Amino acid sequence: MTLIKEKTIAAKVRPDFPILHQEVHGKPLIYFDSAATSQKPVAVLDALRHYYEQDNANVHRGAHTLSVKATEAYEGARDKVARFVNAASRNEIVFTRNASEAINLVAYSWGLNNLQPGDEIILSVMEHHSNIVPWQIIAQKTGAVLKYVELTSDGEFDLEQFRQLITDKTKLVGVVHVSNTLGCINPVEEIIAIAHQYGAKVLIDACQSVPHMPIDVQAMDCDWLVASGHKMCAPTGIGFLYGKLDLLLAMPPFMGGGEMISEVFLDHSTYAELPHKFEAGTPAIGEAIALGAAVDYLSGIGMDKIHAYEEELTAYLFEQLRQIPDVKIYGPQPTAEGKGRAALASFSVTGLDSSDVSTLVDQEGVAIRSGHHCTQPLHRVLGVAGTARASLYFYNTREEIDGFIKALKETIEFFKSVLE
Ligand SMILES: *Cc1c(COP(=O)(O)O)cnc(C)c1O
Repeated sequence: MTLIKEKTIAAKVRPDFPILHQEVHGKPLIYFDSAATSQKPVAVLDALRHYYEQDNANVHRGAHTLSVKATEAYEGARDKVARFVNAASRNEIVFTRNASEAINLVAYSWGLNNLQPGDEIILSVMEHHSNIVPWQIIAQKTGAVLKYVELTSDGEFDLEQFRQLITDKTKLVGVVHVSNTLGCINPVEEIIAIAHQYGAKVLIDACQSVPHMPIDVQAMDCDWLVASGHKMCAPTGIGFLYGKLDLLLAMPPFMGGGEMISEVFLDHSTYAELPHKFEAGTPAIGEAIALGAAVDYLSGIGMDKIHAYEEELTAYLFEQLRQIPDVKIYGPQPTAEGKGRAALASFSVTGLDSSDVSTLVDQEGVAIRSGHHCTQPLHRVLGVAGTARASLYFYNTREEIDGFIKALKETIEFFKSVLE
């Protein structure tokens, strides 16, 4: 049954991804690094090209036809993203360069203006550097205090410790929805409900969830949510911030410039309405339009179907990886059906450096990442300098998992023979 389902999703979409049909070092490419950046389907590449070939003009300015077309396509992309995450209003979606910029927007605009000395910011030790460093900078500037939620023995977000940690002084909780290293899916709805009881705001880093599962910001009740386009089939240079309307209305601009103003005088300015207040300068127009095309593409397949298919891949990936004795996988185990975690595995191989593992499997055409995956504090908690990470998406197949496992086994055997 699983085989039939797989044929319907991966086999159907693979022709849409030209990049996947190439050889690397004379071997068919197995791209297992989608958590770092996903590949882009033809529909997205076409949207980008169509904009530059047919509609290229600046937005919100010209009284000419191309500018109207560009503006309609750009704002249409905002509508698509708003629907994709079920925002209550299109004005709750702000385009940014990436998720990092979206977090910095909240940190500088909201954090800098709302945090007082002694106020608390709670993050988790598994956060991506993008959701740590901006808060460190703002904490230094405001005198706010950073606190961290640790891991349970199963390598998951410690909800009980979070309950102990949060106080009336907690003003912000920043949590990753799906960890890009551990692959755990955090109980964000519970975290948000607890935080709101203390009057704290919650920012969700959804970089690894928005591309892989249905997201409903209203059901989640997060105050802000961020994601990057390039991990969800869109180009680089475009991401977005979702924020509750009343919060975004109260937040001052993050950057000043064209597009974000209403009127400019020599001594002061008034600002544009949402969402333009937060989009200073000419935006990444083509990239935003292509993000809209990516959202259409993903919705066309169905986020629930993508998630279910990735669970099947997860089950198979873990089943195979567990059979290699020298491999240690970090984060929670999936159920037999592949539920409870993302389709990625960070692992180490006894006696081997993670960068040697990725370099050697690359010789077999397999692209996996190695290093700290922008989660150095987490790697310190895990007690390793780096891990190797295989991360999958809906265009990957069981046959590719077999190819990866074969390359990994050969790598381990090669090192054993060298070391003997
Ligand atoms: C990739 C990633 C980020 C940062 O995204 P950028 O596109 O580099 O800004 C933040 N958090 C998580 C969990 C990520 O996977």
